[in-house]
Order: sequence, then C-alpha cells, then structure tokens
Amino acid sequence: MNFPDYFADAEAGFNIANFVIFGVPYGKTSSFRYGAEKAPKAIRQASWNFETYDIRTGIDLKDIQIHDYGNLDVDNIGSKEMVEKVTDFTSPVLKENKFPIVIGGEHSITPGVIKAFPKDSAVLFLDAHMDYRKSYENDVYNHACTVRRVTDHIAVKNIAVLGVRSAEKKEFYDAEESDLFYKDSFSIRKNGISETIEETKRYLKNKKIYLTLDIDVIDPAYAPGASTPEPFGLTPFDVLEIIEAFSSQLIGFDVVEVCPAYDHGETSLLAAKLIRSLIGAVWKK
Ligand code: MN
Ligand code: MN
Repeated sequence: MNFPDYFADAEAGFNIANFVIFGVPYGKTSSFRYGAEKAPKAIRQASWNFETYDIRTGIDLKDIQIHDYGNLDVDNIGSKEMVEKVTDFTSPVLKENKFPIVIGGEHSITPGVIKAFPKDSAVLFLDAHMDYRKSYENDVYNHACTVRRVTDHIAVKNIAVLGVRSAEKKEFYDAEESDLFYKDSFSIRKNGISETIEETKRYLKNKKIYLTLDIDVIDPAYAPGASTPEPFGLTPFDVLEIIEAFSSQLIGFDVVEVCPAYDHGETSLLAAKLIRSLIGAVWKK
C-alpha cells in the first residue's frame, strides 16, 4: 500500500507554515546496520496511520500549518558537504521564523541543523550513545561523533544528553573531563523520568532548546529498527514526557537513526507518532 510521499497533515505551503518538515536521507557513515537513508520515506508512510485528532490533548493537526518540503538531495556527497548543505537549507527556514523538523538519516546530519541556530542555544540529546568521539573511521563527521561536532558550535555547558548507556572508554572519560551533562538510562530508571526532567531543566535553565532524538535511546523492544540498537533503553512514554516537559522551550527537532530494513514498521510508526506529538505540544505552548 502506498500513501502520499509527504508527512500526513503537512499540507500547508511554505510561506504560511509554522512547522517545516524536511528529510535528510543520509546513511553513509553507519557503523553497524545500514539503511538509515530509507527512513524519511518509511516514517512519512507510517504517518498516514494516525488520526489528525488527539483524544488526550484535544489537538487536531489539521488546525496547524505544517509544510513538508521533501528530502534534500544528499545522495552522492561526503559527510562534510552533507553537513554544509543541511546548514544552508536550515538557515532560511529559521530566518522565516519557522520551526524545523528534520527526518534523518543518521545522526551525522544533526550538527548541520544546529549550526544554523544562534550559538547561545541549548541542545538536548536523547541517545543510547555518548557520540563524543573526536573522529571515527577517519571521519570527524561520523555519526559516532555527533555530540562532539555540536560542541564546535554550542558550549558544552549548554548541552545535555539523556538515556546514554554506551561509550568507548576514552570517549567516556573525555566526556567526564569536559563536564558534559548526561544521565544514563540506569539512573533515569532509578530516579524516575520526572526527577530526570526537573534536573535537566534546572541545568539548561530557560534557554531555547534544540531537541535531537536518536531513536536508539528507546529500548529495542519498542524500537527494533535502529541502526545501532542498545538494550536497557527508555520507553516511548519517557520520551513523550520529555517532549511535553520541554515543549515551551523548543526551537527545532530531529529524529534520526531509524533503519527500516530491520523494522516491522513499529519503529517508523513510533518516530512518526513522536513527530506528531511534538508538533502538537509545541503548537499548544
Ligand atoms: Mn547518536
Ligand atoms: Mn545512538
């Protein structure tokens, strides 16, 4: 079955839209499972499963102006060029005061989006991995280096990472030494998601926040179609709570690392639903 190739309910023109969705189908730096470049299509298809109305929040996406630009052409370019292309696309979207929603692709796309934001913005990472390597497989733009690349533009003190449970030893000690604010999934389970959110809020203060969701932060039981799945993850409810708790501060969002070849559709469905929930939550604020 084939549904239209745009995100459901994203039928507004660019000029009147409050939210601009675009895909960055890039998968060239993957290190375990390949195929994240197929995710924008799979997530858009999955989005047609849902009602426009949300019984819990009372929000109807039909009342919100959402534009789906389609995908950037990143087929045959290296990671550095891709990152630059993403920045070049995001900048005018921000200039027009629109809220960008980016569908990856792997996590290597995120530094390109963030570079278009002011340097005093904050960034909230949801990720199973620390992504703090200086370089990986001879590529500083590799998806294993995403948090580190973001620190080229955003001060470490304005970055928080939630849900971590995997890092290389040196990478881990580097992060500790840099005083990177992170909460691992074990401490989140122990202290509860509400306490974690409160602590993170105190840390990021009232800053404007860009939220990046590496789908592998969610447990593989809920999100098996991830490029580098890691057990002992957060639940979809945890992520929804995080989105709603920060919604009044959010200035942009991406969801990355969905790998449709390893999915039976549930991961793409979850990604599409979280995008829809985020749009509703941000719009309401
Ligand atoms: Mn990541
Ligand atoms: Mn990850």
